[in-house]
Amino acid sequence: MVSLQPPLTNSNTLFYSTLTPPNPFHYFPNLYPKTLNPPPPPLKPPHSLPKIQSILQYNRKPQLAGDTPRVVVITSGKGGVGKTTTTANVGLSLARLGFSVVAIDADVGLRNLDLLLGLENRVNYTVVEVLNGDCRLDQALVRDKRWSNFELLCISKPRSKLPLGFGGKALIWLVDALKDREEGVPDFILIDCPAGIDAGFITAITPANEAVLVTTPDITSLRDADRVTGLLECDGIRDIKMIVNRVRTDMIKGEDMMSVLDVQEMLGLALLGVIPEDSEVIRSTNRGYPLVLNKPPTLAGLAFEQAAWRLVEQDSMKAVMVEEEPKKRGWFSFFGG
Ligand code: ADP
Ligand code: MG
Repeated sequence: MVSLQPPLTNSNTLFYSTLTPPNPFHYFPNLYPKTLNPPPPPLKPPHSLPKIQSILQYNRKPQLAGDTPRVVVITSGKGGVGKTTTTANVGLSLARLGFSVVAIDADVGLRNLDLLLGLENRVNYTVVEVLNGDCRLDQALVRDKRWSNFELLCISKPRSKLPLGFGGKALIWLVDALKDREEGVPDFILIDCPAGIDAGFITAITPANEAVLVTTPDITSLRDADRVTGLLECDGIRDIKMIVNRVRTDMIKGEDMMSVLDVQEMLGLALLGVIPEDSEVIRSTNRGYPLVLNKPPTLAGLAFEQAAWRLVEQDSMKAVMVEEEPKKRGWFSFFGG
């Protein structure tokens, strides 16, 4: 188990991606860390616009790695760190890239993925009714208004209690039923996990073979993330990647926030994405219009989109330490100033 003591880096630690999709700073040169080399110019749009808009940014479609369906649980331990935001934005990014996605809201008591997606009025049936035999599975699947290859499935009605005996086996049955549909096997099944590490968490992780751990750069969130990593590994989920959310470069520079490199050193997990703090996230939550659909794109939206790319290709990014340029020595420095 890794230590949760903050490492002794007094860092100007920043982060950038070493991978093919350019990092969000390329689109916002003013925010690019001054100590790095200037960013390369943005990609030129292709001559003929492809149907899928996300491809426009990188001029290619990501290659799906691994067997389908990829069953990915989005988890954190601590609540309020951005699991549901991640599920909605990564899920819709995957759909925009042309992959078929089913997002399961496994946060039973406090379900809110439907709200973030603006689909709350369309949820008529849930998994509980499917299991009771009151409706068919396809009646409980809610197709997104914008991307028909994205479907939402809620476990139960808000504020309702789960039937006794509902557990991991029910979710395994559900995943099998999703594989057997006429439409074919979905490429991704994303499971939005409830907070905590009790029965709801165990149920949500049971059918998954990969996990995305969302954390914020603060010590309480990291401690929970570390505990959850241990539990996921006990359950046989070895493919765990993390998303560091609500990062503020100004605070990292001022040494008021842990850097992404510090977080990675503490948790020892592959980094799927770094999402900056962005007031647009809250605005988009309230509008039921996920950030990745915003035009023009926002910094956090682009970061979510890139995380989706890496998820597809089973890729990861690197956090790096950026050294400050040595200060220019003026006349007074001669005298030790
Ligand atoms: P969880 O599902 O882990 O409980 P949510 O996704 O519901 O967390 O997010 C909790 C709150 O944090 C929401 O109000 C959301 O708008 C806000 N939030 C999440 N990510 C960001 C971000 N990158 N910048 C600003 N606010 C964020
Ligand atoms: Mg949530």
